[in-house]
Amino acid sequence: MRLLEFQAKQLFGEYGIPIPRGILITSVDDASRAEAPAVLKAQVIVGGRGKAGGIRLVRTAEEVINGVQDLLQMSIKGYPISALLAEEPIQIKHEYYLSVLYDKKTNAPMIMASAAGGVDIEQVSRENPEKIIRSNIDSFIGLQKYTPRYMAAKLGIGDMDGFIDIVGKLYDILLECDATLVEINPLVETEHGLLALDAKIVLDDRAEFRHEERFARIRQEQRDLNKKPKTEAERLANERNITYVPLEGNIAMIADGAGTGMLTLDLIQDEGGGAANFCEMGGLANTQIMFDAMEVVLANPKAKVLLITLIGGLTRMDEIAEGIAQYIRVHGRMVPMVVRMCGTQEEVGRATLHDIGIEPFEDLVKTVQAAVSLARTV
Ligand code: GDP
Ligand code: MN
Repeated sequence: MRLLEFQAKQLFGEYGIPIPRGILITSVDDASRAEAPAVLKAQVIVGGRGKAGGIRLVRTAEEVINGVQDLLQMSIKGYPISALLAEEPIQIKHEYYLSVLYDKKTNAPMIMASAAGGVDIEQVSRENPEKIIRSNIDSFIGLQKYTPRYMAAKLGIGDMDGFIDIVGKLYDILLECDATLVEINPLVETEHGLLALDAKIVLDDRAEFRHEERFARIRQEQRDLNKKPKTEAERLANERNITYVPLEGNIAMIADGAGTGMLTLDLIQDEGGGAANFCEMGGLANTQIMFDAMEVVLANPKAKVLLITLIGGLTRMDEIAEGIAQYIRVHGRMVPMVVRMCGTQEEVGRATLHDIGIEPFEDLVKTVQAAVSLARTV
């Protein structure tokens, strides 16, 4: 899970990494809380905001209001801006790049730094790879001061103690928070020492069970900032954490994984039908997820038929069939349902479906054909 800049900076603050003073703004009414001059920064989950016009220096109170108004109507790379960080402007002497991450080649922690900061690091890596210095950290020995000291000397950083301190804190975050990447770009040299002007943290989703509270809080904050979903189905999908994209047709679909889902969409199209949505259960679904997915896609009033395509790999068909049966026990059969089921625990799943009057198909194309022809008649 990638954190928004303000969330990453909050974590930096907790670890004592110097950051600019700032406040979060989510509406034009909020704008009066920001003092001029300020730097307004779009809080979206993608990089390159500066280039895309998502970072703006505003000098007067009027410019603050206009800037907030403008930015809150913009999108960056398809992400609507629904929050801004308003920060004190910083006098920059030099911009560096610094990150601590897991090196894909060695699977060990690594420090990456460059005196060419403030620009896209992938670009530096392509065009001037010699400008990036890397040091692996031996997990058994841990981070020793000589590594960042050597790097600071090579980069020509004046505030050597500050640099050593910041690298140590980034490493602490990597380990203690189970991050896969902790990045500062740019790390800036100011009159008063080094400061993290930007912050990027990616947490390892597989470690969520060790940080349930933190993950839940971050996810909730990001959801709250999302522009209000339009339909009941979208709202429910958000609430239940179900992947759901509304479409124009009348065949509601649920697939157990993204690949099956895309294939199902193509087949619906080939047969001359129209999907009411795209919905996939992530390839590792259970009874509850199946139940939730059905509630989500059938909250769409345009749905006239429900098509469920399942290829049980990690997902167990007995559990999935139980989810379908539970849905029908609670809500009844709101629309005709066509199910394709195969794979793990298929026999048990089929028996469960049979008991509730659903005969699952084996052939995917025939399943889709059945759904499309049903959708024509209802
Ligand atoms: P990104 O483009 O999404 O990575 O956003 P950043 O937070 O890294 O900001 C991009 C650039 O804006 C930085 O590299 C700085 O050059 C500039 N910038 C951001 N905040 C300030 C500030 O307070 N003062 C000055 N002078 N420049 C800033
Ligand atoms: Mn940046």
